[in-house]
Amino acid sequence: MQCLECKSELQKLDNEHLLSCCGLTLHEYALRHHLPLDLVLSADQVNVPDRIEDYPPAIPCPGETARGLLQGIRLAGLLRPEGDYLVIPGDIRRLDLLLWNQRYLSDFGFCFRQEYRFDTSTNRVIADNRLKARRRNFSRTGGHELSLVTPPDFLMVLASCVAQVGELHAGYLFIPVPDRNDAQEITQCLKRHWNINMVVLDTAQPSGGVMLRSYRRRDSDNLFKILSELLQTMPGVWERFHATTPEVTVVKELVFDSAHFITDHPAKCSNLHGGRYTLQVKVAGRIDPASACVIDYGYLKRVVNQRVVERFDHHNLNYVASELAWRSSTEMLCVYIWEQLIDYLPGLVELQLYETGQSWCHYSGPDLDSFQVAGSSSVLHHFNEAGQRDARLCAQIAGDRGAKLSVVA
Ligand SMILES: [Zn+2]
Repeated sequence: MQCLECKSELQKLDNEHLLSCCGLTLHEYALRHHLPLDLVLSADQVNVPDRIEDYPPAIPCPGETARGLLQGIRLAGLLRPEGDYLVIPGDIRRLDLLLWNQRYLSDFGFCFRQEYRFDTSTNRVIADNRLKARRRNFSRTGGHELSLVTPPDFLMVLASCVAQVGELHAGYLFIPVPDRNDAQEITQCLKRHWNINMVVLDTAQPSGGVMLRSYRRRDSDNLFKILSELLQTMPGVWERFHATTPEVTVVKELVFDSAHFITDHPAKCSNLHGGRYTLQVKVAGRIDPASACVIDYGYLKRVVNQRVVERFDHHNLNYVASELAWRSSTEMLCVYIWEQLIDYLPGLVELQLYETGQSWCHYSGPDLDSFQVAGSSSVLHHFNEAGQRDARLCAQIAGDRGAKLSVVA
């Protein structure tokens, strides 16, 4: 087999040769030369069982950086038990970060593995890039006991977590945290020591956890300020959040079946009637260079389902929310839906809501910053704010002269 980098003829290609020849792993080499792994690997390199005796023990006192990084990776939900091992998954686009982590996490006995396996569901060879350590390395010194040695530096822990799973949308930093208590702790610590505000959003994460978001854009700026030194030492991380990449708009379409009526409508829409609504949610943003996405479609779908579809589907829209009791027109629905979503999707740029194939409404509401200042649109709140009517007028209409007199007094 010829190495396409150095042109030498080899028995087989492996990481040992490639890392010394071009500094790439075999998985990266296959991507660079757009070759399927099946063609690059020989049969004896696929589905090779791992041997626990190849893994070293942890050193007696893992360093401060190692403990901080590991704690951040745990916060991010990426420290996973797998048989006799603890595994930290990585992806190929962020291999530099995984290898950088490994340099420190070797204190705990973590080794880098690029494992090739034949995937029976897709009938092709795929590669898993991850750090692995013997699980028993953690039985004596491991788990929560680790942090009791002396708690690792909070900023290192947070930087590690943000580097792994943080995402920047429209200037707001999002951090999915599987454990609600961890999320509370991060929030309180940032508020107490740096006056940085985070909000906890319930977004039905697959992990059962929550999403932390910087409350205002300036909270993201301040957060990046306190983490910048650490994030800039981690390969690819600062660029991931700050590099200029193309702006694109992604659209998710969901449908719901609902009934409604239009109060006071002069024609037949005053009758209760139903239909299938089609909602298109458009989110704009820069392409995240590490994920190649603006936003995860799964997250987008989960949020719109949870905040809108599950509440509207097979319901009478007039009774879903007080804001819609009077007029559940597509226009009012758009304004209402916008306000349900903007906290979760600050990159939201447009909603398109079809009541029929021939009738639909576009809406672009305020961005999150303006919404936080101005609050909910007054068009939704006429009846919520009712009761401010001049008391004398009320009394007059009610024909209650006694009330009128007491008001005058
Ligand atoms: Zn070579």
